[in-house]
Amino acid sequence: MEMTTRQELRREFNRFLLRRLPPCKEIAMLISQSLDRRLGLRERLILRLHLVACRPCERYLQQSEFLSSAIDVMNDDEKEALYEGALSASARERIKSALRSAAPLAAFTCLFLG
Ligand SMILES: [Zn+2]
Repeated sequence: MEMTTRQELRREFNRFLLRRLPPCKEIAMLISQSLDRRLGLRERLILRLHLVACRPCERYLQQSEFLSSAIDVMNDDEKEALYEGALSASARERIKSALRSAAPLAAFTCLFLG
């Protein structure tokens, strides 16, 4: 499929941005930190600009936010069991079924939860 001029411009713009911003590895760390604390102005700016140009990091942010919200609905005992790797079968099933709607993420989570 041939790229339109608009798509080529977009691709060049993304490359221009990504050459001037920290690599995805650093952005992934920023994304994780953004779930635990409010980022500084400079960090937020770097993150937003990177996300404009980088689809994988944008997806990583969405999946991280989704997982974080899934953990938020767990009670303290379930969280403790999750971190110890000893979640009860019923809790595992409940989480799996809640995550089934997000297919790619559910696959990862089922792998993670066993
Ligand atoms: Zn990236």
